[in-house]
Amino acid sequence: MKIRKGDTVLVIAGKDVGKKGKVESVNDKNQTVRVPDVNMYKRHVRKSEQFPQGGIIDIARALHVSKVALVCPVCGKQTRIGFEMTKDHKQRICRKCKKVIT
Ligand SMILES: [Zn+2]
Repeated sequence: MKIRKGDTVLVIAGKDVGKKGKVESVNDKNQTVRVPDVNMYKRHVRKSEQFPQGGIIDIARALHVSKVALVCPVCGKQTRIGFEMTKDHKQRICRKCKKVIT
């Protein structure tokens, strides 16, 4: 996965195109990311300890990584991610400014 938790991403497909957010979690298996306030859907829930009121709540659904683009923390542009090998590990780099993205 190129996108990691904590990355700032721009939504480029789906119902929230243009929204930016910070990745809250990633799911390697499904290749999805969860971003707060992006891809919100209503969900009907029963009363439970977690939702004492029950009813309809807004919930952010995970969206596929292909629907988001990384925003480079260095140059602030929407970018693709490249990889660069150092002595002992791979580093992610911004393809626009070539800076390492931690
Ligand atoms: Zn950059």
